[in-house]
Amino acid sequence: MTAAGPVPVEFRATTKRYGRVEAMRALDLHIPEGRFVVLLGPSGSGKSTLVRCLAGVERIDDGELHLGNEVVADRRRHLPPERRNLGMVFQDYALWPHLTVAENVAYALRRHRPGRTEVARRVGEMLERVGLVHHHGRYPHEMSGGEQQRVALARALVASPGLLIFDEPLSNLDADLRERLRVEIATLSRDSGATVVYITHDQSEAFALADQIGVLDQGRLVQYAPPEEVYHRPATPFVARFTGLAAELPGRVVGAEADGSSVEVDVDGGRILVRRVEVLKVGDRVTVAVRPAAVRMTAVTGASVLAHAGVSNGSGRAPAIDSGHPGGLNGTVADVAYRGRGYDHVVACCGQLLTGCFDAVRHERGSAVSVNLDPDGCVAYSSTVAN
Ligand code: ADP
Repeated sequence: MTAAGPVPVEFRATTKRYGRVEAMRALDLHIPEGRFVVLLGPSGSGKSTLVRCLAGVERIDDGELHLGNEVVADRRRHLPPERRNLGMVFQDYALWPHLTVAENVAYALRRHRPGRTEVARRVGEMLERVGLVHHHGRYPHEMSGGEQQRVALARALVASPGLLIFDEPLSNLDADLRERLRVEIATLSRDSGATVVYITHDQSEAFALADQIGVLDQGRLVQYAPPEEVYHRPATPFVARFTGLAAELPGRVVGAEADGSSVEVDVDGGRILVRRVEVLKVGDRVTVAVRPAAVRMTAVTGASVLAHAGVSNGSGRAPAIDSGHPGGLNGTVADVAYRGRGYDHVVACCGQLLTGCFDAVRHERGSAVSVNLDPDGCVAYSSTVAN
């Protein structure tokens, strides 16, 4: 049995409706062969619909779906899942309860009709790779969730498919197991060379795994880019929010960098430098999306406490503490939580609460801090953009 090699995937204006609901709206998505793509979105954004159509479990209503050189679905055509050369791993494992571990894995080879010895060899090799070789005679109900998901992974990989699909495979597992299995999925999938489509609602999982992230919102693909770009240049406020923010600060543009990549924004309490993803001009009202990692805090002590409180500057307005450069703002710690490697703080600043502000040292509740925002982790959007 020979592996067919990884396949590129292409959705062309693909639409899927359930009654009046357009669960997938004219989706255009090209995934080059061998790429690991994570589709990220909140519940109801159309992730499952997309992968069910890709797997062939659902029919599409409009557009086309290509796997390699073949049109596997359009308005008339529908190639069934077993003819799409793919392996799938589901959230609920979906193992056959009446089959042993080895039989479950071997089931994926049935279409290829290899000899018994070949089946035993391949199943044994796969179980070895997922660390379950000694469990081959067990039934699914005799295993933990993590072990069952490893069996599902072995079953998806054993026939060396050109496309691997993961439908929230870690959602039912505990945190530490999730992390370990995530690494195994990444390693085994990449070793297999297959194209991977992985869906999740968990942004940290998406950032950790993906070559490319596709963000879905109400059946539409709103951004498709490498993780670094999604993080630093989220295409819309929705993408920014869904991929983790400390806060959204209202403000007004007061200056622009010569190279056009950043603007200076007057927020309640000071001025900050931020990236822009759209054309903005001086005077525009904006919302600044702040990533938690952009927040740097320093304790305010002694004389600077007075300055912090706006006592000695005589201007009638609280100054920025590190006023030599934009970004030094007055803050007060509202909450602190120990996280092992350090502390997560909630800081009242600019009339908002900044959440998830990490520091290796603890700043007590009620203490004054100076807040600097790294421009690389701040993005300004015109306030007229609703989402
Ligand atoms: P996600 O996987 O991101 O949670 P889904 O693809 O399950 O999103 O759902 C997208 C939209 O399609 C939702 O509005 C959902 O209610 C609707 N939907 C999904 N499956 C069905 C179905 N079988 N019948 C009717 N509506 C459905």
